[in-house]
Amino acid sequence: MEEPEVLKRAPHLNRRHLCLMAVAAATPAAARADLFNFRRFDLRGRFVQGGYAKGTAEPRREIWVDGKPQGLTSAEGHFIIGFDRDAPELCTLEIKGEKPLFIDIDKTEYSIQRVDGLPPSTVTPSDPALLQRIARERALKDEAFASREDADWFMGRFSKPLEKYRISGRFGNQRILNGEPRSPHYGIDLAAPTGTPVFAPQTARVVLAEPDLHFEGGLILLDHGQGLISMYLHLSAIDVKKGDIVPKGAQIGRVGATGRATGPHLCWRLKWRDRALDPSLMSGI
Ligand SMILES: [Zn+2]
Repeated sequence: MEEPEVLKRAPHLNRRHLCLMAVAAATPAAARADLFNFRRFDLRGRFVQGGYAKGTAEPRREIWVDGKPQGLTSAEGHFIIGFDRDAPELCTLEIKGEKPLFIDIDKTEYSIQRVDGLPPSTVTPSDPALLQRIARERALKDEAFASREDADWFMGRFSKPLEKYRISGRFGNQRILNGEPRSPHYGIDLAAPTGTPVFAPQTARVVLAEPDLHFEGGLILLDHGQGLISMYLHLSAIDVKKGDIVPKGAQIGRVGATGRATGPHLCWRLKWRDRALDPSLMSGI
């Protein structure tokens, strides 16, 4: 299969680099070499909105992204960071003990997707009992998203979760549900018949396995380490339970149309901490 990841482009010039060049022009040669030493660790990935970067540095070093602490590199020194759907054009990555790296993030064009005919209770819920249920389920999901498995399964290549599918919705589409503009679509929709097996695209700890949530229907959340969590929505069957470690390629459930869905499909989502990533960039779909 074609390798979708690209090597980090050679440290190229952005505004910050141009400032450094001005500083360098007035700096002795030995000190100048140090100023441009941007790559003391390996970094590869997809440097676009919804993309990611993986790298290897010294073990157990603090990772700072855009000025915020984001955990430690693994026992092997591995780390992953994500670029949000709406990431600004420059990301700052600092591995403590290394020079900061300034990463240019390419923009992604998102299209508009209209979905009509959804039951009103799934688009604009108002019933108090239903609102309570939604809040309860929100808490379950928040707890699962807070999981930080001390593993570096994220370093491995991601495979596709279905053998056969038709892409029916792309990541990032601006959505208009029953005529009302809503939040963007944070997944990729893979249409397939109900009952189609769903496979873990990479090894992970199961941090949520719920058969019947209001919006998501049957939902599984997998923790691949360092805050990289993948999601599988609208499942008709679930073959794993919370706490399990599932190896890459293991069957975790089956495609369905449960929750807020108009037909059988897998809505596959990916988050790095609070950032929404495009699973197709990780898997080559
Ligand atoms: Zn979806």
